[in-house]
Amino acid sequence: MAIHVSLMKGVILLTFGDMLRVPINNKGVTSLLEAKKHGADVRFITSPFDAIRVAIENLKREVVFFSVGFETTTAPLAAMIRYSRLPHNLSFLISHRITHSVMELLLGIGDIHIDGVIAPGHVSAVTGAAKWDIFPKAFRMPTVIAGFSPEHVLQAILLIVDQVLSRDTRLQNIYPEVVTPQGNIQAQDSIAAVFDIVPTWWRGIGRIPESGYKLRGEFAQFEATKRFGLKDQPFCDPKDMLPGCSCHLVVMGKVSPNSCPLFGGICTPESPAGPCMVSQEGTCYIWWKYRYLG
Ligand code: SF4
Repeated sequence: MAIHVSLMKGVILLTFGDMLRVPINNKGVTSLLEAKKHGADVRFITSPFDAIRVAIENLKREVVFFSVGFETTTAPLAAMIRYSRLPHNLSFLISHRITHSVMELLLGIGDIHIDGVIAPGHVSAVTGAAKWDIFPKAFRMPTVIAGFSPEHVLQAILLIVDQVLSRDTRLQNIYPEVVTPQGNIQAQDSIAAVFDIVPTWWRGIGRIPESGYKLRGEFAQFEATKRFGLKDQPFCDPKDMLPGCSCHLVVMGKVSPNSCPLFGGICTPESPAGPCMVSQEGTCYIWWKYRYLG
């Protein structure tokens, strides 16, 4: 949809940098970067507030912000929409996702071998530590909330191993200076004020209940799907991905990146065939960077 909109006459499409190179299996233009080469006015921004600035600077053009991410990017976008006077020519293509919904789905799938969960500190800072309670309680899954330093990750792994060995499954928070039990109430309020929770598509996986957002009624005029008459196009079938791409299996923990037939050959950070190789936080990117081939 973002590629389609970016190629419409007079549109400026804004997004975060990583999204420019995410490829799809399309007969025509296969990424936003390619759309740019075909003349689309695609620009990357680093803050949602840049979208307002660009829209005000271009009042005679439609400006669409293709906004993606989990709670850490959902919250600032929600606050901006809630508290700003939005220019009439700005709209949003919302592709935000809810971390807990997909994690619960993953843990509910029987054939996935996950020994423990390191709950990400930045998401937990928004949602609150208590949101993870269900993982040890309902799924008997060792769960440790941690930050991103090597020490935090190592400590989290050690605690998970301890829990596994002692068969004492619980929630531990080693990042209390940032993650409180209730989380950021203001951020949660803004998300609830601006968005309705809806089922949404996950690349290669399918439609997951209560895992995405759409703008609430009073903000619906700013939905790009409505403004441009776009249909909710499912993008969930592996055939929509490049042939051989195993990103959906990698993110579900079913295969390792180097089991993907494209890893390191067709797919490298310089020429990614799937989203897991695009972002520096992507599993395949990390495996490639550290040459982990085992
Ligand atoms: S190597 Fe990773 S990112 Fe690349 S296609 Fe395979 S699974 Fe997707």
